[in-house]
Amino acid sequence: MFDDLTREEAAQAGAALLAEDKFHYVVTPNPEFILAAEKDPEFLQVLNGADLVLADGIGVVYSAKIQGTPLKGRVTGIAFAEDMLSCLDGRGGRLYLLGAKPGVAEEAGRRILERHPNITLCGTQDGYFRDEEEALLKVAAARPDLLFVCLGAPKQEKWMARWGRHTGARLAIGLGGALDVFAGRVERAPESWQKLGLEWAYRLKKEPRRAGRMAKLPLVLVKAAGRRMKK
Ligand code: UDP
Repeated sequence: MFDDLTREEAAQAGAALLAEDKFHYVVTPNPEFILAAEKDPEFLQVLNGADLVLADGIGVVYSAKIQGTPLKGRVTGIAFAEDMLSCLDGRGGRLYLLGAKPGVAEEAGRRILERHPNITLCGTQDGYFRDEEEALLKVAAARPDLLFVCLGAPKQEKWMARWGRHTGARLAIGLGGALDVFAGRVERAPESWQKLGLEWAYRLKKEPRRAGRMAKLPLVLVKAAGRRMKK
């Protein structure tokens, strides 16, 4: 399912998608996605239909290794998004931010433009809309090149697969809570923790309420080991 790419290779592949006059979408699954997709065939199909499937979590990298199909490493959604912003900045393109609570996308956009002054922020919209089609029409009217879709999984992936090609964007990326990070509402783990592959542990320390959700994650590794044994 995953594309075996380094961050640099993913950035090159993303730049090529952004240069092509056609809709593409990118997904950034973590272990929670894999568990959800096992029970949701539509979600699995949408993930497999993406132009790029990037291994966002260290759990995905471990599980691929256990299964005997190792990946070069992980490419986080945030890192890939950063690289696509640099690329868009280089060509002076249009960015649309869809998702998160009211006010967050605007703040994220303001901060992104401080670092990437050649980007045009052509629109923002919070992620708590009732009507999917209405949300689409607003995006399409803004004529974006690059679109961040941050509605949480699997909503954001299904939205991209269903409506993405009508937005007129060249590249949409499903990015979960990234707008909260870009807006400075959520802190990312210090680089030392990230390098050790312990970003999940940092997140757990900051948001202990995630413990219930995270407790399921080692299951992905156990299942991967089970599949390896069967080979
Ligand atoms: N979100 C949204 N609309 C929804 C549900 C969630 O815009 O209907 C946003 C939420 O505000 C957050 C992001 O989606 O900014 C990701 O949510 P969550 O932290 O649950 O997902 P994760 O990134 O952990 O997969």
